Amino acid sequence: MVKNTVALVDCNSFYASCEKVFNPDIADKPVGILSNNDGIIVALSSELKKLGISRGAAAFKIDKRFIRKHGIRLLSSNYTLYGDMSTRVMDTLSMFTPDLEIYSIDEAFLSLRGFEHLNLTDYGRQMKKTVRQHTGLPVSVGIGSTKTLAKIANRFAKKHNFTEGVFDITNHPDRDKILRWVDVEHIWGVGRQYAKMLRRNGIINAYELTQVPDNWVQKKMTIVGLRLVKELRGISCIDLEMDIKPKKEIVSSKSFGNPVTELQDLMEATSDYCSVAVKKLRSENQVASLIIVFLSTNRFKNEPQYANYAKARLPLPSGYTPDFIHAANRILKKIYRPGYKYKKVGVMLADIMHQSKAPLDFFQPTYLDDHRKIIMDCMDSINEKMGLHKLTYASAGIKKPWQMKREQLTPSYTTSWKHIPVVKAI
Ligand SMILES: [Mg+2]
Repeated sequence: MVKNTVALVDCNSFYASCEKVFNPDIADKPVGILSNNDGIIVALSSELKKLGISRGAAAFKIDKRFIRKHGIRLLSSNYTLYGDMSTRVMDTLSMFTPDLEIYSIDEAFLSLRGFEHLNLTDYGRQMKKTVRQHTGLPVSVGIGSTKTLAKIANRFAKKHNFTEGVFDITNHPDRDKILRWVDVEHIWGVGRQYAKMLRRNGIINAYELTQVPDNWVQKKMTIVGLRLVKELRGISCIDLEMDIKPKKEIVSSKSFGNPVTELQDLMEATSDYCSVAVKKLRSENQVASLIIVFLSTNRFKNEPQYANYAKARLPLPSGYTPDFIHAANRILKKIYRPGYKYKKVGVMLADIMHQSKAPLDFFQPTYLDDHRKIIMDCMDSINEKMGLHKLTYASAGIKKPWQMKREQLTPSYTTSWKHIPVVKAI
């Protein structure tokens, strides 16, 4: 058996913490981050959790007096900020290992194989300190001989102050005791249905699950469940996934702040989403040849319903945004029906491949060898230097009345020169 050591680094209350970094006034205030269109709370700071508010709560249902009394701040989600802060955290973590798996926007697994001669708790503390220094964000570090145990160690570090946010469960004398402390529903990879089934069978915590015979686990929870149980026992079965797989599809779509009825507005939104999706495609040096456009009314409302989609194939794979905007608008005209209140429209790019792998055509140049690539590269670099959306497509509109509501949006502190915070020394 190959010995393995893994650290899981997870940012504490990531979205709320990003906001706090740039706004010292709310550093110890209860902060909630709202979903698209400011509807529900999607992320909370620990102070807000302590007030009994939980994820998924509807913002409008929280009493105004309660908000004032506790100084609660509810903010629109600032994904530009969170995305950029995430990149900074991951860049910092990559200093600590050559093998890093970015697991989500605020979590990464670090392989520490070959680092076992170090005091790994100290190494974890160093990670925590360095991320704090580079980004201002608090993280917790869990270390274990498998990914599943590293997850448990991370949870333990978060919930117990004496760990100071870093915990190594490898060879820990109290390992069994700690596994008993983890309820089955809190084990990484155990879904709600499996948790119920385990409880029905009298298996309440992670330790009890390690004691169940293999054949029972495999019968009840398939081979995936058996892998998980082995991981709990310290046998590494889930490898780190270091390579970013090329995306199979790219989707860009958002719900409207207010229902949209006019074809013109839908076309503007579609053009806008096309420009986002195709830019993402280019940033990975990819081209696509299939575009799908979909639109729908709000199925939760008691009003006439309509939803449809259609696709179009480009003659050759492309990374040129206008190619996609033209195709998308043609599709939209075909599937649009007047008289409905539309809630959502979106585009999806598919049949994606690397620019250099695009098939050749006798009659026209590929995207890679064409002036279209020069124009797009030029546009991307201008927008990178001068700010997002400095150069944009007229078809995406200027006023954009269809855009989603984000009334409590904080500035783009780290990605826009205009919004960079000013520090005054008095
Ligand atoms: Mg987190």
